[in-house]
Amino acid sequence: VIFGEIIPQAICSRHGLAVGAKTIGITKFFMLLTAPLSWPISKLLDLVLGEELGTVYNRARLIELLRVTQANMDLNKDEVNILQGALVLQEKKIEDIMTPLGDCYMLPLEAVLDFDTISEIKDKGYSRIPVYDEEETNVVHILLAKDLLFIDPDDKKPLAEVCGFYKTQFITAEKDRPLNKMLDEFKTGEKGHLAIVKGEEDCGAIGLVSLEDIIEEII
Ligand code: ADP
Repeated sequence: VIFGEIIPQAICSRHGLAVGAKTIGITKFFMLLTAPLSWPISKLLDLVLGEELGTVYNRARLIELLRVTQANMDLNKDEVNILQGALVLQEKKIEDIMTPLGDCYMLPLEAVLDFDTISEIKDKGYSRIPVYDEEETNVVHILLAKDLLFIDPDDKKPLAEVCGFYKTQFITAEKDRPLNKMLDEFKTGEKGHLAIVKGEEDCGAIGLVSLEDIIEEII
């Protein structure tokens, strides 16, 4: 027990990889030597008991494992946070992290791109601004700040005209969409990195969520 079990166990639990690497030849030799007996036994056991599963961790166990082994692991706090953040991505919905409609900076479709409006857009500093028609819940367009590059404030161009010209596509997503699904859609890059979050059927927009919100949630 002492020489065959306790001492090798104690050494291997601390230096398992190094011991394994140096003794792989001996292991292979004994595998070959015992194969005539061990291989049929293993096949028979598989047949009777089913295939071996090995150690399987589900999401909750992985998160807990990260938590309890944090102090002894070669991972720093940021890495553990990212791993844990990535693991809970599927459980959170965009509704939990979105910027609610009341806090969104939006423009009405009938706005005019004069000096005041453009200054206000600059002051707010957002690169994408939802444009609504009559009701704030009825978002019809996303104005990109870069679309203003060719706009002269003296022309006082109607916003509707600029929206009609650029016709920027945007994502609308239902509020209970999981963050990982939202991230997948942002990753395609087809309709930009900002989504308008819709509430129940017919009740229109309730907020917005951007790629940055999801990354913030991960890190
Ligand atoms: P930006 O490129 O304009 O800086 P980001 O996509 O980096 O925007 O998002 C930064 C934060 O600002 C996110 O929390 C996002 O929800 C929020 N945000 C983005 N656009 C708007 C907007 N028009 N009004 C209010 N909040 C916004």
